[in-house]
Amino acid sequence: MDSWVFITADGWSGALEAPRALGGRVVAVVVGPRELAEGVAAAGPDEVRWVEPKPGVPPEAFSLPLADVVAAAAPAVLVAGADPAARALLGAAAAALEVPLLPGAVGLAVEDGHLRVRRALAGGQTIETCAPGGGVAVIYAGEDAPAATRPEATIEVLGLTCSPLAIGASEPVGQASGLSDAERVVSFGRGVRAREDVAIVQALADACGAELACSMPIADDLGWLDKSRYVGRSGNHIAPALYLAVGIAGAPQHLEGVRGARIVAAINNDPDARIFQSADYGIVGDLYEVVPALVAEIDKLDK
Ligand SMILES: Cc1cc2nc3c(=O)[nH]c(=O)nc-3n(C[C@H](O)[C@H](O)[C@H](O)COP(=O)(O)OP(=O)(O)OC[C@H]3O[C@@H](n4cnc5c(N)ncnc54)[C@H](O)[C@@H]3O)c2cc1C
Repeated sequence: MDSWVFITADGWSGALEAPRALGGRVVAVVVGPRELAEGVAAAGPDEVRWVEPKPGVPPEAFSLPLADVVAAAAPAVLVAGADPAARALLGAAAAALEVPLLPGAVGLAVEDGHLRVRRALAGGQTIETCAPGGGVAVIYAGEDAPAATRPEATIEVLGLTCSPLAIGASEPVGQASGLSDAERVVSFGRGVRAREDVAIVQALADACGAELACSMPIADDLGWLDKSRYVGRSGNHIAPALYLAVGIAGAPQHLEGVRGARIVAAINNDPDARIFQSADYGIVGDLYEVVPALVAEIDKLDK
């Protein structure tokens, strides 16, 4: 079962490795700088097809001509990682092939000759297994894979002419304003029990001069903050001087978003919470007591 994997930015290794389980050829389509194509080739897919955009031309501009190439090859499986440009290329190719698109895939397999796609739902609390009837396009959201040692693939240049995009972006979207370059971020998770209690952590953020952020379920499932405010693998990747996690368990998918933080501090009432393994400082306690007490102490410093 041949697979084509769309790669436009770093963080591609999981998406490239996932289709190996299918046993067919893995073709990596790289739209980006030469170094990116070389890095992908070194991971040993069966083939690398490389498109080099001119400066200022986004990878998405190649969606339609690339979709024609994919449609002619008709691979059974299309894969993209989580980055927006790769997903746009995948979407156009899926439309050209008229195959369904499944987001949130964490695993691909062949069982009894049939393709199975495992998807994470409800923030990873549930895994469903889909059995597509034919070809399929998946957005891979699973673990990163360790770099493989395989013979390096050759890089074939795809000479595509990009079509002018019918849409344009006047300013970056998807990243909450202020969060990406904030010095301090106070972030909260499901330890906060009710929407009205968000005011408690907002008060701490205000006292610290910090931006407010959250874990994925707070934005995605509960809608207490805008989706542009959650941190993690599928959300914001930030590098503040201080990241203060309040009532957040510290799932690997969450921590991926704060790898660049200089100091991670955590407040959690469970002494065994995973966040404490990654935190430089931790307070074991009930956030409903600890946060107001912290705010009171910070207020005293200001006087
Ligand atoms: C493919 C995939 C991608 C994902 N991407 C992301 C992502 O980008 N970002 C993300 O955040 N998650 C992501 N997730 C979800 C992630 O796996 C976790 O489910 C999620 O981060 C958990 O959120 P949480 O820590 O707020 O909630 P919980 O896991 O419910 O943790 C709540 C924490 O609060 C503590 N607590 C409870 N009450 C109190 C109290 N009174 N005082 C102090 N502490 C308290 C608990 O001890 C617990 O540790 C992803 C999952 C999958 C499968």
